[in-house]
Amino acid sequence: MTAATGEQPSGVGAATQPDYGIFLDLHGKDVLVVGGGPVAARRALGLLQHGARVHVVAPQVCEDLASLESEVHLSRRPFTESDCDGVWLIQTCTGDAQTDALVQTLADERRIWCVRAGAAQESSAWTGTTLAAPDGVLVTVNGGRDPGRARRVRDQVRACLDRTDLRRTRGGRGAGHVSLIGGGPGDPELITVRGHRLLRAADVILYDRLAPVALIEELDHAEGPLLVDVGKTPGNHPMPQTEINDLIVSHALAGRRVARLKGGDPFVFGRGTEEALSALEHGLPVEVVPGITAGLAVPAAAGVPVTSRGQARAVLLLSGHDGAESVVARTHGTPADTTLVLYMGVRHLREVATALIEAGRPADLPVAVISSGLTHSQRTVVGTLATIADAAADQRAPAITVIGEVAALSEELGTLVPPSADARHAH
Ligand code: SAH
Repeated sequence: MTAATGEQPSGVGAATQPDYGIFLDLHGKDVLVVGGGPVAARRALGLLQHGARVHVVAPQVCEDLASLESEVHLSRRPFTESDCDGVWLIQTCTGDAQTDALVQTLADERRIWCVRAGAAQESSAWTGTTLAAPDGVLVTVNGGRDPGRARRVRDQVRACLDRTDLRRTRGGRGAGHVSLIGGGPGDPELITVRGHRLLRAADVILYDRLAPVALIEELDHAEGPLLVDVGKTPGNHPMPQTEINDLIVSHALAGRRVARLKGGDPFVFGRGTEEALSALEHGLPVEVVPGITAGLAVPAAAGVPVTSRGQARAVLLLSGHDGAESVVARTHGTPADTTLVLYMGVRHLREVATALIEAGRPADLPVAVISSGLTHSQRTVVGTLATIADAAADQRAPAITVIGEVAALSEELGTLVPPSADARHAH
């Protein structure tokens, strides 16, 4: 019994039984943090870095916690019983022993492990004192629930680690590493040699529907990498970008070689910047493998050279996602011999075509809309600014729209890049 709170020690026989050491994979698991001070902030950050989905409950939060607002779910109110629902783990660090004890009691009733900051003796779980070495090596010291003693042991272990051979004996994994791989425009044969090599060496592959899935399927066997579909479909975003970033980071921090396989090129409308920056912020090595971007390859496949002597002396890659106004603003003043290549937004085709005519482009300017390029479902529709909306009304994403004289060459040149046997999209 603890005099201060009068509750039962949580771990039965805690004083006599040795503690049970365990490591948790927190990735994607809901974890509750009760408390709003610097300790709670440190705990919340640590949990985030291990991939947990963190809910912080506190009536007042310190600056450090407030700065995590975009990454954690923050409830600025007192703790209530129902906050425990559905969580895997609770960390309570309110600074108030009675509240922490109450949280512990409620957690026990629900059979949820609960870590009480600064009160290992009363906790059902505790984190020990840890020492992180390179390449996922982690030593956690339990000082018999005496943190001061644990720290002394840790310092001795640290000295030993410096003399220890940390090379892997199993799995052959190196240090955590992130590669952002451009998978090319759809056909699995159009990835680079380097991209393919990194893919085969990966421990984890995160891909989406525009990536060449056939390449991944051949790796899908018992010894193969972990495959994670983070795909987005228009209007339906199964995994937010921040979650993808965190997933990449948490796997790489665990010492895995992470391949983020993307359609086309990672840095062309591919959100590669965010993924690279978030990995770099965590001190992870990042490699970007360029890919053939859809805006150049898909027109070529349909017989549309984006530059062509005498007809097109420049090419402008832009997104159609934000509709006509955005396209007009970005193409305003470009010479007539600039080919416009629109990624995304095929649903805005009518308003874009109309707005371009209103902005002074000729109504008979050729336009080609090519959907599912470099796959067996590739389909090309050619028209003019005046006719394309009706002609291509049933063209669906993914599609590239080419606006310029060169679009008309499609009828003469035809399919120039035939898809390979395995060329298909993971719809
Ligand atoms: N990073 C990618 C682009 C991602 S944006 C790249 O460099 O290619 C997604 C858009 O790319 C789609 O909406 C579509 O406009 C285009 N796209 C990608 N693959 C395509 C394909 N096989 N056929 C037609 N368009 C494609």
